[in-house]
Amino acid sequence: MQQDALAARFKTLARECGFDLVGIAPAAAPASLQAFPGWIARGYAAGMDYMVAQAERRADVRTAFPFARSVVCLGVQYDSDAPYSTSPEAQGEGWIARYAWGDDYHVVVKKRAEALRRRMHEVAGEFESRVYVDTGPVTERAYAAVAGLGAWGKNTCLLHPEHGSWFFLGVIVTDLELATDAALPDMCGSCTACLEACPTQAFVAPFVLDAGRCISYLTIETRWTVPEDLRTGLGRQLFGCDICQDVCPWNRRRRRGGGERFAARPGLVAPDLAQLAAMDEEEFRRRFRQSPLRRAKRRGLLRNVAIAIGNAGDLRHRVALEALCADEDPVIREHAEWARERFETRLSAAGS
Ligand code: SF4
Ligand code: SF4
Repeated sequence: MQQDALAARFKTLARECGFDLVGIAPAAAPASLQAFPGWIARGYAAGMDYMVAQAERRADVRTAFPFARSVVCLGVQYDSDAPYSTSPEAQGEGWIARYAWGDDYHVVVKKRAEALRRRMHEVAGEFESRVYVDTGPVTERAYAAVAGLGAWGKNTCLLHPEHGSWFFLGVIVTDLELATDAALPDMCGSCTACLEACPTQAFVAPFVLDAGRCISYLTIETRWTVPEDLRTGLGRQLFGCDICQDVCPWNRRRRRGGGERFAARPGLVAPDLAQLAAMDEEEFRRRFRQSPLRRAKRRGLLRNVAIAIGNAGDLRHRVALEALCADEDPVIREHAEWARERFETRLSAAGS
């Protein structure tokens, strides 16, 4: 089959396998990754040592996979009709990033990509390939941009005219020569809404994120202490942060959602802080089975709950906070004590 006919057939199969977006990039170094070594050298990868260690491999997919000729880029949309964290209707106490309300996308998207690969073999016979969803040495977002799945936003997400930025990515790296797609033109124009909305000033410049200041990194990737000067900026965010996507005009139009696997589990949209604070290890494992929240572990999540309680300053959380101050985990205790100090400062200010 010709390259373009094969590519077209694969795209039809991708949609049948549950992908909303599909495009093909050549297995070459994306121009956007030329800035990657400088970004790492300036320390913007923070504690993500795997990124630093894999910097060279990530700059060009052919370094890790010399057989590679094409990268099939796949997207699954996951919006839902729940309000945005920045909306006045988003009542409730804590906040968890939209992508983490349902089942772990790594598992769901990878299963779909594996199914697609099987069907590609039925059409094309034997070929070499690798499937990745966020866990391999492939900078998926850069290849997806080349393949036209979205234009780079100033918030470093990909923007798609129909799907906004609410979509997961996966890739199939293959030795097949396939017809490739064109990148989308810039969609930000003069807008700077995301840069202004970031509560921790994590954008060093448009399109440049200092991960060490980003709430997503701080609440998920950081295993130990969250720097004190950034804790107030975390607000009520418990796991990830959607703010720079919530304010994006390309996300104003709401989408149909990503299906039941990504639908919000009970109590995860604006969760109750006291309930989360009361979770022991067993309850954490039970409640977050097959959920992205497992990544933070109980320690990380309850540390973030302690920070959110400190920021909320609601005296009804006093009992929950005392329990966190007595937790056996020193990281949780330290952040709970920080929150208690904020309570006491507030109380003495109110009494004076
Ligand atoms: S995810 Fe949140 S903290 Fe990170 S850059 Fe966006 S708005 Fe800022
Ligand atoms: S908020 Fe504006 S500047 Fe930021 S990504 Fe969206 S369109 Fe681009």
